Formats: sequence, structure tokens, C-alpha cells
Amino acid sequence: MADFCSTVWPEIPTPNNYLNCKECGLYKQGTRMVWGEGNPEAPIMVILDNPGAREDKEGNPTVCGTRQTLQKAAFEVGLKMSDLYITYILKRRPVRKYDKEFTRNICMQHLEQQLISIKPSLIFCLGNVAVQSFFRNQNAEVKSFRGKWHNVQGYLTMVAYHPLAVRRRPNLWPYFLDDWKVFAERYQKH
Ligand code: SF4
Repeated sequence: MADFCSTVWPEIPTPNNYLNCKECGLYKQGTRMVWGEGNPEAPIMVILDNPGAREDKEGNPTVCGTRQTLQKAAFEVGLKMSDLYITYILKRRPVRKYDKEFTRNICMQHLEQQLISIKPSLIFCLGNVAVQSFFRNQNAEVKSFRGKWHNVQGYLTMVAYHPLAVRRRPNLWPYFLDDWKVFAERYQKH
């Protein structure tokens, strides 16, 4: 098998009518909109809390640590970029304090619209923020929800740790990889 090497996956363009979205006020923090990355027609939707940096300080394309770890897990279980549509609870990256509940509730409406138009076959929620928002359950936690399938709003869903948490705590990597394996096995069969 070829060695893993992270790459910049294509960005899924933000729909024109949301390019200047100011609904939650996060635009004041100066980060740009990122609607998603990967394949816009992929059967798997991966949901993270918010986009990581896609450009470094000089404006050159970069793959943040979150995406590197996510791509590595996908690679290890035989999933390709073309299998995955990565998106976020918030479409802008917060860089300062903000009203989390208010902001997530507003931006979740965009995710609901994505779900209706994309109709993914399987959903993978990574990290507590994504899980709590998507499950609409503030008590939901990856630790207790991982390792099994859930039906959320009619979508077959699994959860796993946030890739950045895995990066910071390498002892989580085996759990993370196990969850990706279970996920990929179901996908191969579907
Ligand atoms: S985070 Fe969501 S609601 Fe807030 S400005 Fe971006 S798209 Fe709009």
C-alpha cells in the first residue's frame, strides 16, 4: 500500500446566497466562509465543529492538523476523498469568544438544508460539539455514544473523537481508527 500523504482536498463552494452570510455575527471575527471540502456528491457526510485554516499566513494552501488526522484515518480504512463530503456545524471558524448556543442554533439551519439537498447515506459526527449539535442533545458525548450506530433524524450516524483531540492525545488513535473501520465496513456493504 502507498504511504499516506495529506493533500489539500477541493473546497465545496459556498452557495452564492450564503457567501456574505452574517446571520450569527461570526463574520465580525474576520474568518471566511468554508462550506465544506471533498466530493459534493459523496454518500458519506462527515460533520466537524467548524472549518480549520485552509490557508497559512502567506495565503498558501495548507492542511491543518485536524484534516491531516482525518485524512490519515480515512486512508487507513480505504476511504477516498471521493467518498467523503466534509462539512461543519459552523461555516466560519471562530477565533474569539462567541455565543456558542446562539451561533450553533442559527448555523445548524444551513446544515439542515445541506442534508435535504445531499441526502447522505451515512453520517459521521466527529467531536462533542458536532455530536451535541447534530443529535440536538447537550448531554451527548463521544465517549458514551461511540462504537454503535444511531438513527438521527432518519440518518444512519456514527460518532468518533474529534481528529484534533486524537492528535493531541495519541492514546485515542486506536479508538478513532476502530470507529473509522466500523464505519467503512458498513459503507462498503451499503
Ligand atoms: S457561521 Fe453560519 S450563520 Fe454564522 S455567518 Fe457563517 S454561515 Fe452564517
